[in-house]
Amino acid sequence: MAELTNDFTWSKSRHEKFAECRRAYYYAYYGSWGGWGAPAGSEVRELYVLKQLSSRWQWAGSLVHDSLKQLLRRAQATGQFAPLEEVVARTRQRARAQWSASREKSYWRDRKPVGCLVEHEYGDPVTGEEWKRIFEEVVAGSLEGFYRSPAFARIRETPRTDWLTVDELDSFAFEGTKIWVAIDFAYRDRDGLVHVLDWKTGKERGVDQTQVGIYTIYAQGKWSLAPEQVVGGLVYLGAGGDEVAVRADPEALRGCEAKMRESIAGMKALLEDPAANRASLRQFPQLEDPASCRRCPFRRPCGRL
Ligand code: SF4
Repeated sequence: MAELTNDFTWSKSRHEKFAECRRAYYYAYYGSWGGWGAPAGSEVRELYVLKQLSSRWQWAGSLVHDSLKQLLRRAQATGQFAPLEEVVARTRQRARAQWSASREKSYWRDRKPVGCLVEHEYGDPVTGEEWKRIFEEVVAGSLEGFYRSPAFARIRETPRTDWLTVDELDSFAFEGTKIWVAIDFAYRDRDGLVHVLDWKTGKERGVDQTQVGIYTIYAQGKWSLAPEQVVGGLVYLGAGGDEVAVRADPEALRGCEAKMRESIAGMKALLEDPAANRASLRQFPQLEDPASCRRCPFRRPCGRL
């Protein structure tokens, strides 16, 4: 098997980590590299495990995304959509199993930890009521929102032959850089328009033009489309499945490309050797204000406990 190398790639989440904290970005994309096979107790293994931890809100979002992926993939294979009660019950079971394993900190023993929580690692105080509220309001509430949403009604009406993707990780090349994307769901409607949907479990924010632009650029290449044939849809599950439809016009696409170019250049500018994607910790400073570190999974190795 070819040896894995830490090649430079870009994604929206990588951009967000870079914007959030340079030091956390270094830990996540350089310091933890190779940690899946590193010995227990080594620094690289510690950073690798800490990188897998989610906050309770991120965890809730992942539970919803995973359940919808399972639901839609099964429906794609069988034509049958499981009822809401069954999906909520299965998700509850998975949440309980992950939460219990996380509380025991079993992620330190797993080769590829899943569903582990920052709050357990650092003993952050979270009441039982709060955990219940997160499951009922965010997880079960979002699944209910999905079943009520116009987007789900349209998915059910669309022949499965017109489903284009269900949450598959894919990539495209942008000016020599590999860009990762994972579109929650895409389908072609009767008029030939391609709808690219993204599930949101958080509150509605301003439309993220970069996200819609990235989806449009990807869809253009993947399914040979003109920009006007792609419609981005942000589906707010917590708001009963309200959907914001957005089209990226040529100007918005140029703006998105400019942002990606700027982000990639900013990341590469801090590298010791950009061609080899080699980084040195000292180029990636900590946040100035320790108060902003309260929820970071890297608090301990960063010295910000
Ligand atoms: S603890 Fe603070 S400074 Fe350190 S990596 Fe996390 S956010 Fe950045």
